[in-house]
Amino acid sequence: MSQYFVPEGMRPATLEERREFYASEFNLAKVAEWLKGRAGKTKFAVIIGRHTKIFPEKYCEDWDTTIIIDEYVGLEDVCRQILEFLPEGVYYDRNVYNQSDEKAGQELAFDVDPENITCPIHGTLADKMKRHQGLSFCGTELELAKQQIVSLYEYLEKEYSDLQVVYSGRGFHLHVFDQKACDLTTKERTEIAATVKEKGFAIDVWVTEGEMHLIRLPYSLHGMVSRIAVPLEKKEIEKFNPIQNEKCIPKYLQTGKSATSF
Ligand SMILES: [Zn+2]
Repeated sequence: MSQYFVPEGMRPATLEERREFYASEFNLAKVAEWLKGRAGKTKFAVIIGRHTKIFPEKYCEDWDTTIIIDEYVGLEDVCRQILEFLPEGVYYDRNVYNQSDEKAGQELAFDVDPENITCPIHGTLADKMKRHQGLSFCGTELELAKQQIVSLYEYLEKEYSDLQVVYSGRGFHLHVFDQKACDLTTKERTEIAATVKEKGFAIDVWVTEGEMHLIRLPYSLHGMVSRIAVPLEKKEIEKFNPIQNEKCIPKYLQTGKSATSF
């Protein structure tokens, strides 16, 4: 059981690495592209150091808080605020709001995380929690998560047409952009989550039901594992290896490609 935390090569990002990433590598054009179909203004959020306990000294009161960024002028301003907080994680709000800031819908999403997968070696999530390894996962669990997200995609494709998978840095998110999915009621979402769970998918039901409406922002840095959250084509998923795939590895971990130091 030694070395069981995250697959080899993954590790928390330091504050300097977070700074380097958001100053020179964070792709705002791609973020804008991701968000372009959304109605109204998108809210963002950051968590500075909840899981890593790595945070700037001046935020010692707020390292564990979910900080909402809803006052900004353009994505460059959002990026400037991220650089101020140097968070371990950046999220956006799947809720869609109307002009009066009332919730008018929600992007439907599914979260398949490797730690929720029952592993032949490490057991169920409950087993892992008992060992205080609730956020740990191994290569086998990651492989099983890939198989699940592909099956889930194929299942949802029967009902929806605008689906997008994102490697989240740990597991996979599946976003549904169809308008009819955005319009679902909480009751309908709860039923969908229950059905999907019954079919054997290890999803986080809170995400699908909508209570947990923040989701990791694609193209941001997952600071626990030093991986970039990246959208994947369905055909890429099977061979996708987050240990080696440069697309999800920040420059500070790519040998010979170290960016400017700060
Ligand atoms: Zn395992």
